[in-house]
Amino acid sequence: MLRDKIEKHLLEVQKPSRYIGGEVGSVIKDKSKIDVRFAFCFPDTYDIGMSHLGMKILYSLTNERENYWCERCFAPSEDFEAIMRENDIPLYALESLDPIKNFDFIGFTMQYELSYANVLNMLDLAGIPIFSKDRTQELTQIVIAGGPCVCNPEPLADFFDICVLGEGEEVNLELMDLYYEMKKQGASRDDFLRKACQIEGVYVPKFYEFIYKDDGTIDHVETTNGAPAVVRKRIIKDLDKVYYPDNFVVPFTEIVQDRVSVEVLRGCIRGCRFCQAGFIYRPFREKHADTICKSAKSLCENTGYDEISLASLSTSDHSEIDPLLTQLLDYTVSEKINLSLPSLRVDNFSESLLEKIKRVRKSGLTFAAEGGTQRLRDVINKNVSEEEIMNTCRIAFEGGYSSVKLYFMMGLPTETDEDIVGIAELANRIIDLYYSIENRPKGRGVQISISCATFVPKPFTPFQFEPQDTREMIEHKQKLLLDSVKTKKIKVSYHNPDVSMLEVILAKGDRRLCKAVYTAWKKGCKFDSWDEYFHFGKWLEAFEECGIDTSFYANRRFEYDEILPWDHLDYLVSKEFLIRENKTAHQSKTTPNCRLRCSGCGVNKKVGRECF
Ligand code: SF4
Repeated sequence: MLRDKIEKHLLEVQKPSRYIGGEVGSVIKDKSKIDVRFAFCFPDTYDIGMSHLGMKILYSLTNERENYWCERCFAPSEDFEAIMRENDIPLYALESLDPIKNFDFIGFTMQYELSYANVLNMLDLAGIPIFSKDRTQELTQIVIAGGPCVCNPEPLADFFDICVLGEGEEVNLELMDLYYEMKKQGASRDDFLRKACQIEGVYVPKFYEFIYKDDGTIDHVETTNGAPAVVRKRIIKDLDKVYYPDNFVVPFTEIVQDRVSVEVLRGCIRGCRFCQAGFIYRPFREKHADTICKSAKSLCENTGYDEISLASLSTSDHSEIDPLLTQLLDYTVSEKINLSLPSLRVDNFSESLLEKIKRVRKSGLTFAAEGGTQRLRDVINKNVSEEEIMNTCRIAFEGGYSSVKLYFMMGLPTETDEDIVGIAELANRIIDLYYSIENRPKGRGVQISISCATFVPKPFTPFQFEPQDTREMIEHKQKLLLDSVKTKKIKVSYHNPDVSMLEVILAKGDRRLCKAVYTAWKKGCKFDSWDEYFHFGKWLEAFEECGIDTSFYANRRFEYDEILPWDHLDYLVSKEFLIRENKTAHQSKTTPNCRLRCSGCGVNKKVGRECF
């Protein structure tokens, strides 16, 4: 039995509880009564995947249906993978310990580009043909994908049977219902895919063929099997009515986000031009404070967790943030539960909000300033002025904080050396501010941490057309920033620019990249988001062997009138709007947030109602 084989080796690996299931809150069903089995696969380790909110929601939602069973599956770490391969243990799901190759659906959530190779590795470990074309016509083993990366699924198009665009709560069940009906009728895989692609939000890559021009850009896209020319993403209209679990699986081992996570809102009002999430999750929708508090309480009671985090792109943009926090704190303080608040923005960081945070958190504050000068912050539409940054820091210092972490990006469109030096100058002015405050924390020096990521232009943002800086350009800017910092009170850290380069190639790539992803995996690439496993050299070899010119994707400006690899997918925001925003960026002009004024991105027309 598979269980015996697994248990025999568990003590040979780190964190064995990742591999055996049986956690409180996991759902066990009687197999004989199940009609459709779904393996929810996270292409990274248990510790990371178990923190993912989307998985928790879809897991519980699917399991509400008596005859459907959703189980979890994660990428094994290197030590356990070696044991699996040596002992013929196929990749299995944690609830039943059954091999996932026997499941009806194998569903991957694609959260970041650097997990692409892990998908191939997991399919291989499962014994499922890696290429969609090699799977049989029997109606089983439907490999599907969802999550933010499928807004451009083309670099993975050869591996997935279906990509689900947008929010999954409704469409996943619609797909499973269709499958259940067609399975009873003895339909084939292609019969099912032909019907499935008629469901809104369902993209079947193999029904689309790309024709390229001599210069390598896309000439046109042909559809087959009656697939729609454009596939539109799904959204949930009313967040107060949508299903939200009142229980989570509680792991035995420590995971990245080991706490109750309560969703506050979806979408974002801001429109920062580099931020993919800010565009692909539009429109902005929020839950009422009562709904949020009710979820938080039932989750704490059912899981026994003593910490809550509020999940959203920008929690402080909730229109009822003050009453919401007051209501939540009344509960959490009396029950001795911690409340953590990620995603704070500097421009609406009030003293009363700080007072509330101070009741729950004593660590340093982090802010995303993104650009070192006002001009550059205007280019990226980070509607934050230096005055607001200073004011926020002043409130924080007067409130007892002595360290601030600031996030910046390097390689942003129109960026010059002046903008880079501006990062150090801004940090210097924050230091001066600290020492000018009478009631600053006594006996403590100030510490400013600057964290610099390399800008990655992403699909469905106004910067989707932009090239990424070359490695040489980034290295020059990194050195310039280090040379501009003259005090130990400022610490600078960088992200590896090679990682960002791979990210942009996979984010903006087309279908021709599939063979390079496959080749890279064959060369041993996996867990690319982990420093110790990231082998850029192998990826470069793979690109070269497959005749892929990386600069075509990474360092070339995509033209406005060019057909982009994701143009046949509709994330509600119009391309005309993205072009307009790109032009506005190059004039260093800002666009107000959606609550102040609608800028006509087109979402409201497609959803059929105003956003505010
Ligand atoms: S339609 Fe207007 S308000 Fe709605 S998301 Fe687009 S720009 Fe914002």
